[in-house]
Amino acid sequence: LDPEAFSGESRAVVNFLAEYYRDVDKYPVRAAELEPGLLRKLLSEAAPEDGEPLEDVLEDVRRDILPGLTHWQSPSFFAYFPMNASTAGFAGEMLSVGLNVVPFVWAASPAAAELECVVVDWMAKLLGLPQRLLFSGGGGGVLQGSTCEAVVCTLAAARDRALARLGHESILKLVVYASDQTHVTFQKGARLVGIPPPNFRVIRTSAASGYGLTADAVRAAVDRDVARGLVPLYLCATVGTTGLGAVDPVRELGEEARRRGMWLHVDAAYAGSAAICQEFQELLDGVELADSVSMNPHKWFLTNMDCCCLWVASPRALTSARATDTEYLKNVGTVGGAAAVDYKDWQISLSRRFRAIKLWVVLRRYGADGLRAHIRRHVAAAKWFERAVTVDERFEVVVPRKLSLVCFRLRERFPEDDAVDDLNRELLAAVNESGQAFMTHFVVDGKFVIRLAVGGAMTEMKHVMDVWELLQGKAEEVLRRHQL
Ligand code: PLP
Repeated sequence: LDPEAFSGESRAVVNFLAEYYRDVDKYPVRAAELEPGLLRKLLSEAAPEDGEPLEDVLEDVRRDILPGLTHWQSPSFFAYFPMNASTAGFAGEMLSVGLNVVPFVWAASPAAAELECVVVDWMAKLLGLPQRLLFSGGGGGVLQGSTCEAVVCTLAAARDRALARLGHESILKLVVYASDQTHVTFQKGARLVGIPPPNFRVIRTSAASGYGLTADAVRAAVDRDVARGLVPLYLCATVGTTGLGAVDPVRELGEEARRRGMWLHVDAAYAGSAAICQEFQELLDGVELADSVSMNPHKWFLTNMDCCCLWVASPRALTSARATDTEYLKNVGTVGGAAAVDYKDWQISLSRRFRAIKLWVVLRRYGADGLRAHIRRHVAAAKWFERAVTVDERFEVVVPRKLSLVCFRLRERFPEDDAVDDLNRELLAAVNESGQAFMTHFVVDGKFVIRLAVGGAMTEMKHVMDVWELLQGKAEEVLRRHQL
């Protein structure tokens, strides 16, 4: 690595990206429907024998790659959940990849491991998490790449804790519980730790509870399993579900989990960011009953991909499920002690990224207040949009908004109007094909629902107002086409 070339080429990439961000709102938000396999035809069949100039590579990115991308950082990207990029997130990511250290054990990069401990404690305090999830309270946190990995690690910890008591032959008795709104990552995780599909309970939710999981429903499912000789292992509560933004009542579920000796995990992947605002901390009411909590700063916390915070009340339960004891990794962290953490056993892989520096830069640059303003700006815009939908009699809000996700649709014109789903599909397709905005859908109780997830780092009220105008225009066209 030649520092001069490094400096020149990094600047060229930064300039390329600055130009991209300057123009990001001019691209069609969702990638045009390209012919599958087109890129392979544009690129050469094998890697070049001789290195090429960076300018040529960047030119190919501009010509061949950018047209095939969906522009997640466009201010009119309202699909899925946001994946924030920011100036500080990028600066932090540059430091992370630039330094390229690997803090798998404390001695492998002591300041990197220690910064991670500090940053997860800072985050826990900002979110109002209980002391027992902080290092200073006997718990602790780790930065992983995704919620899926975090869930796998906690499932393995809960499984091993139960099997230590019951014996390994009992693995097929262990049952895990979640709702029909829980992210599918949970079922993937359960299968990865050896819990087969017949042992997951996917508990139905309904409009009556705002699609939140109720303790009564969990109790009924657990009672049935216990009567059959099965062992309740793990309950996943979600704060801010992916489809509808529903919030499971953590306190009620936590009390039920405690009574049954189940591990309670709180998945706050998206909505966890909002808990830095005092007015939204109540979404996590009861979190002191959780064995583990996860949230993704890479969603709505101005932190570029990837970054998932996982906190556990018992680090020992987490690490003993993956304990490795190799001579060449022994160091002061191996012996234990709160000040020197060997993060290798807090996650699946051995090698790991220096994510802490990225989150630390974000927290330092924006401060808690700047981050709160970012969250509140989006919640206010979503509130405005929800109100606009409510007063337009052609539309309905399907489930009351909690934060920055609005779920809505063209309303039924008469009871059991089957065609209304097709109209909504057509409306969503028309908006997305326009290239001016991108939204995705969900299906609940058999109804097709359009989701507007506000949260892009560059998204302002103006973009939300524009998408509403676009939706109204497209709705008019769709209804006219069907003579409605
Ligand atoms: N949980 C919730 C509530 C989510 O919304 C998502 C993704 O949107 C996930 C889990 C999966 O997160 P990851 O991709 O980090 O595994």
